[in-house]
Amino acid sequence: MKHIWSPWRMEYIENHEKEDGCIFCTAQAKADGADNLIAYRGKLAYVILNRYPYTSGHVMVVPFAHVPNLEGLDPATRAEMMELTSRSMSVLRNVYNARAFNMGANIGEAAGAGVLGHVHIHVVPRWAGDTNFMSSTGQTRVLPEALEDTFLRIQKGFRI
Ligand SMILES: [Zn+2]
Repeated sequence: MKHIWSPWRMEYIENHEKEDGCIFCTAQAKADGADNLIAYRGKLAYVILNRYPYTSGHVMVVPFAHVPNLEGLDPATRAEMMELTSRSMSVLRNVYNARAFNMGANIGEAAGAGVLGHVHIHVVPRWAGDTNFMSSTGQTRVLPEALEDTFLRIQKGFRI
């Protein structure tokens, strides 16, 4: 598989087209389910599936506060985001047998942030050689049904 590592760019392309309000603020205002893709809500932050996942199980950890960078958040929110990042990895290990992770954030336009106003941390599960089913479909986008399945599995994973 070529260019396995480009979720940041992907997000930029997908979200830039429809910058009608903040996608995170819109999602968090809805009831949780396959529609808004929020798998887990904490007190100050939540875990949401990426609608255009780089690999199955690509999630983002997002604060409820619409703030463009980590410095603008209070320490409790930052702490919870790190906790949810760690928990996401545990869930992905359990549910998808993920063996490794890429984790990171694009903060600011020059860094390629897709959603400029609302900071978020990506967690992308990885496998040795990325021999999960995504590999066989190459660069093809995950079907909506598959995304919904992923959502249900990860949501359930957070309940355990
Ligand atoms: Zn927002």
